Amino acid sequence: MTDYQVVVAGCGPVGAFLAAELRLAGTSVVVLERLAEPDPHSRAFRLQTRTLELLDHRGLLGRFEATAIKIPKTHFAAIRPPLLDLDRLDSEHPFTLGIPQARTEDYLEEHARGLGAEIRRGHEITGLDQDDAGVRIAVSGPDGDYELTAGYLVGCDGGRSTVRKLAGIGFPGRAGQVSALLGDVTLDAPDEFPSGIPGTVRTPDGLVMAVGMPGEGIRVFTCEFGREVPGRDVPVTLEELRAAVRRVTGRDIGMSEPTWLARFTDASRLADSYRKGRVFLAGDAAHVHFPIGAQGLNLGLQDAMNLGWKLGARLTGTAGEDLLDTYDRERRPAAERVILETRAQLALMDPAETIDPVRELFRELLAIEEVNLHLSRLLTGLDARYPAPEGAHRLVGGLVPPVALDGGVRVAELLRSARPVLLDLTGRFPLPDGWADRVERVEHKAAEGAGPAAILIRPDGYVAWAAEEGDGDQGLAEALTAWFGTA
Ligand SMILES: Cc1cc2nc3c(=O)[nH]c(=O)nc-3n(C[C@H](O)[C@H](O)[C@H](O)COP(=O)(O)OP(=O)(O)OC[C@H]3O[C@@H](n4cnc5c(N)ncnc54)[C@H](O)[C@@H]3O)c2cc1C
Repeated sequence: MTDYQVVVAGCGPVGAFLAAELRLAGTSVVVLERLAEPDPHSRAFRLQTRTLELLDHRGLLGRFEATAIKIPKTHFAAIRPPLLDLDRLDSEHPFTLGIPQARTEDYLEEHARGLGAEIRRGHEITGLDQDDAGVRIAVSGPDGDYELTAGYLVGCDGGRSTVRKLAGIGFPGRAGQVSALLGDVTLDAPDEFPSGIPGTVRTPDGLVMAVGMPGEGIRVFTCEFGREVPGRDVPVTLEELRAAVRRVTGRDIGMSEPTWLARFTDASRLADSYRKGRVFLAGDAAHVHFPIGAQGLNLGLQDAMNLGWKLGARLTGTAGEDLLDTYDRERRPAAERVILETRAQLALMDPAETIDPVRELFRELLAIEEVNLHLSRLLTGLDARYPAPEGAHRLVGGLVPPVALDGGVRVAELLRSARPVLLDLTGRFPLPDGWADRVERVEHKAAEGAGPAAILIRPDGYVAWAAEEGDGDQGLAEALTAWFGTA
């Protein structure tokens, strides 16, 4: 017997979302968060299309959209024009959502608590020890030190993850080479900002970007290549930010009333495994990269959605260890791809004169519709696919498409409770005996056009099996067994 089935380290966006997913899977969970109060500062300001699709599956999107702004275009490597046209994406939500991270965290924490997750603030994980029976976790709380036991521990405790270090999971990659600052400030003369806002000034000395934060003033970024990278914890002053802006633009830009000043780098690292025995990693604990393109938090929420139902299934005894191993197999390549793409963007942003012609060529390439779409899908997470068995239906491994169903029902609405769904669109696909306790069969006609005849959907919205009109149910029982355990 353990105190909890799962302990989650960290109540950032990823930890909170994972806790909610675990509760939907019927798992007992406690989240231990070092900070006594939520961090009021927002690193992230964008939720990407794939994340919006997943939030939609859980019925959360309306809440987010109500206080956010829809952004239909974005840049690649600060090249503008042309911009990436997100409105051409093959999604029901062809845009990114501008919303401060603090609000995202607030909504997700409320969602997790609403589902019965226990969240303890001011409790820091300081040690761990695991064996075949479970994990023992040392915690330092407001009333002193104590120990908890759990079946599994998930480190959602950020880029400097204590859990990752204690578990002995390596974090290889590249150290930061670029010195970057951010400041949420009031500009004396926003209309005179050299590039306009939003905009980027790129000179031989670096880059300065300025963006309006939805309802929250102006955020100024500076990015200097080849300059010594100070330690992350060295405090930033307004004078340091102004000096960096001056070095890059050659002008003194008046700014005041900073509400937040921070430094970051382009360090790119990927955990050498997302799992060690009973310890898992998700979010920044598993991957970090330069925050160009606004993807880290999104990647982490997608990790959480992938892991939550798998841990739940393992704990209810319907799934074996193999299912847990698919987490690393599916999610590490997604992070590898984001690291590749953010490093490519940063290389294009390098102020070296030798990069100028490459940027010029890229500007031409971005004007080609297919290239623009390819990069838009990459940045918004829409190109994420999981490995599929050879010969599988083309939908297998991808997110379920938004097939319009009769009666105005949307596929997203079938996934609210995070149960696997066999969606039968032709009335020809009964659920084989032995899975009715785990898998829901739903019969609907597609509202229009030809499409698949049946789709087996995992709790995270990805397709496990599908059939076309005229196909039988060959492969269905195998897919059910592989993903949801034996009958
Ligand atoms: C300038 C900047 C802009 C960004 N913009 C975007 C964007 O627009 N879109 C996007 O997707 N991403 C963006 N990111 C990245 C994004 O902020 C992170 O990817 C995201 O915060 C990761 O979430 P997380 O929950 O994994 O980790 P974190 O948000 O770091 O949360 C980890 C939590 O764990 C807690 N913790 C740490 N150690 C312990 C411990 N030992 N015990 C208990 N608790 C612990 C911490 O207090 C913290 O609350 C940006 C990053 C930066 C720097």
